[in-house]
Order: sequence, then C-alpha cells, then structure tokens
Amino acid sequence: MTPGGVDLHSHTTASDGLLAPRDLVKLAARQGVRVLAVTDHDSTSGLPEAMAEAVEHGIEIVPGLEINCDVPGAEIHVLGYYVDWQADWFEAFLAEQRAERRARVHRMVERLGELGVPLTAEEVFAICKEGSPGRPHVAQAMIKRGYVKSVREAFDRYLRSGGPANVPRRRLTPVEAVAVIRRAGGVPVFAHPGLAGRDGLIPELVEAGLGGIETFYPEHSAGQIEAYSALCRRHDLVATGGSDYHGPQTGRAGTLGSPYVPVEVWQELRDRAQRPSAA
Ligand code: AMP
Ligand code: ZN
Ligand code: FE
Ligand code: FE
Repeated sequence: MTPGGVDLHSHTTASDGLLAPRDLVKLAARQGVRVLAVTDHDSTSGLPEAMAEAVEHGIEIVPGLEINCDVPGAEIHVLGYYVDWQADWFEAFLAEQRAERRARVHRMVERLGELGVPLTAEEVFAICKEGSPGRPHVAQAMIKRGYVKSVREAFDRYLRSGGPANVPRRRLTPVEAVAVIRRAGGVPVFAHPGLAGRDGLIPELVEAGLGGIETFYPEHSAGQIEAYSALCRRHDLVATGGSDYHGPQTGRAGTLGSPYVPVEVWQELRDRAQRPSAA
C-alpha cells in the first residue's frame, strides 16, 4: 500500500511490459494504486482491456503512451497523457511508429549478425507478438539463444544507446513528439530526464508545448528531484512521476505504485488536458 496511490508511468504486453493490461491493473489494485497511467511505447492498444479491468477495482486509468526519440548521443522519451487515442489519424500515426520499430528490429538483427551473434527478426517478433517491438524483445531473444544471461547484460554489451547493435531512430525529433501529442489534445511530458542527460533541450521542448517533466522517478536522485521540481515551477510545468513498471525480471528495478506521487499532480495533468491549447 502506497500513500499516494498514483502511478503515471507503466507498460504492458502492448509494448515491452511483461504483464497483460488486465494483470497489471490487478497488481495495481493489490499495491493500493488508485490512479494508473498506462503508457506503452507507441501503442494505446492496452487501454481498453486495462479500463475494463479497472472498473472492477475502482481504479482510474489515465490513457497515455510513450514515444522514444533518438538524438545524437542520447535518447529522449516523451510521455503523452489524455491524448485522443481513438482518433483515426492518431492510430495511423502510431501504426507508422510501430512499422518503424519493426524495420529497426530487422536492422538490429543484421548488426548482431555482423557482430557474430546471429538472430532472426522472427525470433524477436515471436516474443513481442502483437505488441510494439523494441530492444527488450531483442534482448529476450538473445537470452533464449544463450548469448547473454540477462536483459541488462544484452543492453550493456550490445543494445544501450551508443552500443554496437543499437540502431537509432530517425523518424521523429523530441520537438515533433511533443507537437504530435499536443495535436492529439494530450499533455506531453519529458520522461525520466535524469536518464537522458539532455536538460539543455528543455527550453525548446517548452516552446513546442511541453506540459510537464517526469520528476518523481525510481532512478532520480534526491538532488535531481529537487532540480526538476524547481525547473517545473520556473516554466509552469507539472512535476509528474511514476514507476515505469515493466514487470518482474525486465532488467529494471521498480515497484508499481512507487515512488510517491501526490494526487494533485494527476489532477493538474487532467485539468491541463481539458484546457484548450493556446496554439
Ligand atoms: P526501445 O523501445 O527499443 O527504445 O527500448 C527502450 C526500452 O528498453 C526502455 O523502455 C526500457 O524498458 C528498456 N531498457 C532501456 N535500457 C535498459 C537497460 N539498461 N536494461 C534493461 N532495459 C532497458
Ligand atoms: Zn520500455
Ligand atoms: Fe522511457
Ligand atoms: Fe517507460
């Protein structure tokens, strides 16, 4: 049981989470979570199942997603909340994003072959099934083949940003990701900036319509939380937070419902989504 009961960042089998949306919501209920944002990578297809299950537990589901962008030497992840996820154009946009992800898997598998680690794209797609494919699925296929012992090892040796088998995306800049979320009526939030190490991009993201910075995050230090809170106050942004839960054994630490996120953060996010955009 967590005191806040608010978690604004989680993943399901619609992308690289290990739990089906229904099971994620059941776990949320057990952990005392009352408000849960489901934020799969380039997909909102977990939302209907999550929302149906949430009704059974009196949990509020915040519709969301996460768009990962690559910039030279770093990765910028942009969360989007309360997007008009059923709009045809937005669904078509996400389908294109997932097509790029599939193409990227083919290119990463090619790289791995050149590195003496033969793997087929089909092995990767067998793991993610209908979900958005990504590097965690490549990592799992590598474990299955016995090349590495853990997802973490696969990232450390091959798949991390700048790693020998990582293929950067070129489709969207972070500014474009912010803009597309705004166009879909959502609130764009800079995800875990402490991991990105590109605080210098914040002014141009704000200019593009950024609504918040993910401040409360398992891997943020107390100093980072203080600094991002101050930045949010200065730029009139919402200081959001969430666990980025991907399920057990995904090579990432974290418990659903943790860290603590004040309920006012969710209320402010919801209010901003309803506020007509100035642009
Ligand atoms: P992709 O969607 O291909 O950009 O992969 C990004 C995802 O990989 C993140 O959302 C995390 O779930 C996962 N990830 C990133 N870095 C690591 C790491 N060092 N160890 C384990 N998982 C990671
Ligand atoms: Zn992920
Ligand atoms: Fe992320
Ligand atoms: Fe995430």
